[in-house]
Amino acid sequence: MSSYDNQNIFAKILRGEIPCDKIYEDDYVLSFKDISPQAPSHILVIPKGPYKDINDFSKNANNEELIGFNRAISIIADQLKLSEESGGKGYRLISNAGSDSHQEVPHLHIHLLAGRKLGPMLIPEKS
Ligand code: 5GP
Repeated sequence: MSSYDNQNIFAKILRGEIPCDKIYEDDYVLSFKDISPQAPSHILVIPKGPYKDINDFSKNANNEELIGFNRAISIIADQLKLSEESGGKGYRLISNAGSDSHQEVPHLHIHLLAGRKLGPMLIPEKS
């Protein structure tokens, strides 16, 4: 696997070199709206550390980073009233890793999608 590319677009957002529509930030994550939303709520959650995908992160991040990143998901889902616990109707998380998954930006990001019935998880393969 190749190493982390610190010129990717999310690294630039983290460094403040390009703007984002920020939803939430703490010591471990930055969360912002996806520029091309696929649902009424389409939020990206990224770790502040240089991890290219979930595989890299789950293998190499320290415990504090792992916990901080996971905790942020529920904080954001509750804050935006998307989780059922906060009165919402739920949400879907997607994280692409590698070429078959169609990952475009090589900095770990979780897509948090909500705000409508999201349908089946995958489009069936064409025969
Ligand atoms: P991937 O295909 O890597 O899982 O998803 C990358 C996501 O990043 C896409 O949904 C795309 O719309 C989003 N994206 C790409 N460039 C930007 C950007 O400059 N700003 C924001 N907010 N989202 C971006």
